[in-house]
Amino acid sequence: MGGAALDGRPGWVTLLRAPNPGPMTLDGTNTWVLRAPGEELGFVIDPGPLDEGHLRAIAEHAPFRAILITHGHFDHVEGAPRLSAMLGGTPVLTSFDADIASDGFRIRVLDTPGHTADSVCFLAESGNSPAMFTGDTVLGRGSTVVAAPDGDLGAYLESLELLRTHPDVPMLPGHGPAQPDVAAMAQFYLDHRRERLAQVEAAMGQGADTPEKVVDLVYPDIDPAVRFAAIFSAKAQLDYLSHKNRESGTRADGLDRL
Ligand SMILES: [Zn+2]
Repeated sequence: MGGAALDGRPGWVTLLRAPNPGPMTLDGTNTWVLRAPGEELGFVIDPGPLDEGHLRAIAEHAPFRAILITHGHFDHVEGAPRLSAMLGGTPVLTSFDADIASDGFRIRVLDTPGHTADSVCFLAESGNSPAMFTGDTVLGRGSTVVAAPDGDLGAYLESLELLRTHPDVPMLPGHGPAQPDVAAMAQFYLDHRRERLAQVEAAMGQGADTPEKVVDLVYPDIDPAVRFAAIFSAKAQLDYLSHKNRESGTRADGLDRL
């Protein structure tokens, strides 16, 4: 196994989970510390909330080349300025698109909008051992929120298609447990989203014309604590479907004119 954990997690990564559990954060935000064997400098992915104890636990793994951010949600990035200051000015890299090759790593940045417009995944590789850090694009369990105005379901489905092209790469998400194969997870959520879209289309056929009515029909037993998130998701689904229907309507018009 070469030091890999049972879930396929490589030996060069350490999980530090922030103490911020909740309905939207699952067990808490996952902060990942990367350090290639024998290298002095490591990397931090998503320092998490501004929690002094959590940030101190990260700082114990210093020194770091950089602090990387998967997307701008507070539960991932809020602690970044404080951590950087604790470490004497370690740079915080947000919305960068250059790949990193140093300190025993190759880190590729994949644009994966959908959960938010700024969401990226990091494909990190040390030796022959890769891992995909997915932030909130794919969670370790449960379905991520794809909500207007920042979320975009069409972009999200394309991002899942992209992740599906990386078979047998362990997945290290922003919340929830690591998973052995990011491509299998992406395929699972592609199927799940398409199933949901078919359900929303059916609900629209039954006259559900608002996100609230869609949620009542499609998720009748939803936990009240996350109902607002389902309503945001339903809005994204309605937007996506009406946009798609408009597009196919346009194509049909074009064909009519031929
Ligand atoms: Zn998020």
